Amino acid sequence: MGSQVLATRREALLGAAALAAGAAGSAKTEPRFVMNDASRLNPTPTIRHWIVRENGDLRIALLRRELKDAAAAHRPVVVGAARHSMGAQSLARDGLALSFPDATIEPDTANSVYRTPAGVRWRDAIAQLDRIGYSPAVMQSNADFGVGATFSVNAHGWPVPYGPFGSTVRALRLMLASGDILECSRDKNADLFRLAMGGYGLVGIILDLDVAMVKNVHLQRTAVMVAPEEFGARFVKAVREQKTLMAYGRLSVERARFFHEAMMVTYAAAPKQPQPLPAVAYESSMTGVSRKIYRAQVGHEYGKKARWLAETVLDPRIASGLATRNSLMAEPVANLANTDMARTDILHEYFVPPDRFADFIAACRRIIPPAKAEFLNVTLRYVAPDSDAVLAFAPQERIAAVMSFSQTTNPEGETDMLLTTEKLIDAVAGLGGAFYLPYRLHARRDQVRACYANADAFAEAKRRHDPGLLFRHAMWDAYFA
Ligand SMILES: Cc1cc2nc3c(=O)[nH]c(=O)nc-3n(C[C@H](O)[C@H](O)[C@H](O)COP(=O)(O)OP(=O)(O)OC[C@H]3O[C@@H](n4cnc5c(N)ncnc54)[C@H](O)[C@@H]3O)c2cc1C
Repeated sequence: MGSQVLATRREALLGAAALAAGAAGSAKTEPRFVMNDASRLNPTPTIRHWIVRENGDLRIALLRRELKDAAAAHRPVVVGAARHSMGAQSLARDGLALSFPDATIEPDTANSVYRTPAGVRWRDAIAQLDRIGYSPAVMQSNADFGVGATFSVNAHGWPVPYGPFGSTVRALRLMLASGDILECSRDKNADLFRLAMGGYGLVGIILDLDVAMVKNVHLQRTAVMVAPEEFGARFVKAVREQKTLMAYGRLSVERARFFHEAMMVTYAAAPKQPQPLPAVAYESSMTGVSRKIYRAQVGHEYGKKARWLAETVLDPRIASGLATRNSLMAEPVANLANTDMARTDILHEYFVPPDRFADFIAACRRIIPPAKAEFLNVTLRYVAPDSDAVLAFAPQERIAAVMSFSQTTNPEGETDMLLTTEKLIDAVAGLGGAFYLPYRLHARRDQVRACYANADAFAEAKRRHDPGLLFRHAMWDAYFA
């Protein structure tokens, strides 16, 4: 009897210990899997990726429950769309990653606006706007990205003379960490509207947005060669001409002629507007080069030379230069995609005061050619002043230099990229400009503050609205925590 009691007591003790271990273990050993973003450099252990197919009230109720559970378990929650940001800004370490596979927008032609769920990708929005003769006012140069994500990075595009995407958003619905939903605009909850614009999902989940649309139009391209040192002034002048509706520039990237030639491309309404306009085509002629020529630049100076020749001489001669606004905006990222798994394409972006553009070019000529990474492309854009976003990258008029590098994915490639980035940020900060946040987290914290005057105010406001730090990701940890 005594031994039986002992055995029972021992069993009970072991059982309790096992239960305790099991309970602790279940928190620690919950099955995880790895998510990554387009850089392929951010493998991130994640507990759950919830693709939210439910709609309406059910979506809201389920989201609220998930936020509550995540808060109780101290797990981060991060929304993503195409997950093309490159510093894990769309990933939740040991947390909940959300995606909204939305596809349908509601246009209101009387008010030139459409309501779109945040998860809608631009290719779907464009397809629906195209059918009714409209076009997005501003978006990125590629159509794979999510509309809510575009607001969350406050992307800019190449239609002119616009500021970033946020300038074309009239209102949105935001779910806070508490589960409360607030209507935000320049008139209502304006502080949250300004924080969420370019706020990288750190203040709440954007549910849907009201976005301005413009008429689709048939455009005619004009390309001219310009001295790089004069590009800043010439570009701003061209953009301000009323007839210019879209504009970009390019610089030569062959090491021997690095940034020594510039091309400026503008689009104005074509003299003849076919009725109806041709339907949107999803392989725009904007780049003027095929994927094959573009990829031949990696490791081959002759490839860079051939690409520049194709773009500046051959294409303007043989192509009509005619396209609708929507076709120009609908370019898929796949047009330039890398398939070499030992390398990855990494973007950088710098926002330069136009009157300091020549100095920026001089700094790039000094910093970029010695880097080990292959420099594939730079596209130049115009960004009008942004007086809305707390984390504004263009508080005044800027020329955006969007750069694409191909680097190896090993630590040597990473170190080379980190050092190049630090030098470029120091250079642009010294000219009064800024760098763009959705890419690699290679900036130093002091560089973030040098380029974003409100960085600390942003972090403080985020903590006020989300005291439990439910919405957080690697960029929060690296730059703001
Ligand atoms: C090939 C290429 C071309 C590009 N061209 C341009 C360009 O022309 N102009 C430009 O400005 N940028 C450009 N970018 C950068 C691009 O705009 C950003 O990387 C953007 O984040 C991509 O959208 P996404 O759907 O992949 O966003 P994701 O990477 O999925 O998300 C970006 C951020 O938005 C947040 N977010 C997403 N959805 C929501 C939501 N519903 N609520 C709250 N937060 C949310 C995420 O948490 C994350 O922090 C380019 C990038 C690439 C790779």
